[in-house]
Amino acid sequence: MLRACLDCGMAVDGNVTHCPKCDADLAAQTDGSVLHADIAHQRETIPVALHKLQQALEEARSGHARAVRLVVGRGLIRDEVHRQLSWLKHSGEVLDFDHDEGNTGAIVIQLRRGARKG
Ligand SMILES: [Zn+2]
Repeated sequence: MLRACLDCGMAVDGNVTHCPKCDADLAAQTDGSVLHADIAHQRETIPVALHKLQQALEEARSGHARAVRLVVGRGLIRDEVHRQLSWLKHSGEVLDFDHDEGNTGAIVIQLRRGARKG
């Protein structure tokens, strides 16, 4: 998958960490956008919902999104997603997460951009 360097506009391969033209840290670049995903309204089981959470995070990381807004509903899926996100925050994969303003059925996840550990 190709992505564009936001600093110089060069099209670079998605696996490349630094722009070959201007040496920008590509993983740290964000256009401030928010990726939207609904993981709780197609009768998902908890494993399926957690898989969709992971997919949404990967999709956001491979693009330029700053955050992910995740619709989780108000049931068990939300509890499990909270558990998973707490762990991801602890391990440093996400910066932070919180309820969407005024909507307890949605979570906004702030992504960690920049060099990944390991
Ligand atoms: Zn560049």
